[in-house]
Amino acid sequence: MIRHKGVVVHPDEITQTWKNVILGSDIDFIGVHPVGGEGSHTRVRDIAENGLPGECADNARELVKHGVGLEYELHVMSLLLPRSLFAEHPEYFRLDENGNRNADYNCCASDADALEIISRNACELAKKLPSTTHRYCFWLDDVRDKCCHCPECSRLSVSDQALAVYNAVQRGIRRADSLGRQSYLAYCGAVELPEHVTPEEGVYLEYAPFDRDFRKPMSDPANAASARSARELAAFFGADESKVLEYWLDNSMFSGWKKPPKRLDVDPELIKRDLEFYDSLGYGAVTTFACYLGADYEELWGAPDLGGYAVFDK
Ligand SMILES: [Zn+2]
Repeated sequence: MIRHKGVVVHPDEITQTWKNVILGSDIDFIGVHPVGGEGSHTRVRDIAENGLPGECADNARELVKHGVGLEYELHVMSLLLPRSLFAEHPEYFRLDENGNRNADYNCCASDADALEIISRNACELAKKLPSTTHRYCFWLDDVRDKCCHCPECSRLSVSDQALAVYNAVQRGIRRADSLGRQSYLAYCGAVELPEHVTPEEGVYLEYAPFDRDFRKPMSDPANAASARSARELAAFFGADESKVLEYWLDNSMFSGWKKPPKRLDVDPELIKRDLEFYDSLGYGAVTTFACYLGADYEELWGAPDLGGYAVFDK
């Protein structure tokens, strides 16, 4: 049963409007997600060191005061395993498709020292960016299939390698937050079930169906593969602790990740049917990207129509 409903926004988009929507509706947690792509880890470091920007920090504080959960959804491999270590320890990094050690993305998922460094840095990051829901989302790089091809890793699938790293992250988070739980982000190449690596206690599923058809509900045959992943992954990790990360309100994607934001055009019937679908699988939490709906959006288009995602007569 869906017990928690969230939105994921950029750090500078926690507006007064969002605050009022969340406080007046059944949305009970907010995820902070710095703009991705090149340099995204420097934006994470900035928040970790300086906090959320201006008025957004006040709004976030007030939401937390009213019991709304605050968590961070972050691609942070460059912080967990700094690429500067490559010069002395190329073995920490992946053997790429051409047989070369390469610090471009992710890491070697079989190198015990690399995993220990990842663990230690996850602990430090969890202290700086504590999650009030105790759910942590410290993810691999935002790329598809950039895994390690060394002899040890070659025996592991993309999903196995991702889970090996998330297990290491989980061990670090637990040292900072005894209730902390790290997400296994099932996304792009990592939607297949892990086969050789087992989730350690506390690792939960976060399923982001990026490859779905966004114009058709999950129950439509066009989304059969994504629906099957949703079902199999939930059964593997345990549905009740699992979270869906959807794109229903992802105006950054609908705007081609380019400002100015386009007018959000959502399909209330699709959202309703998808919520029923995830509920029927037993997912305990759903959230959706809701980026590009900040102050600049409101100036152009007024308060966004959330297509029935937020229920106000709670
Ligand atoms: Zn490897």
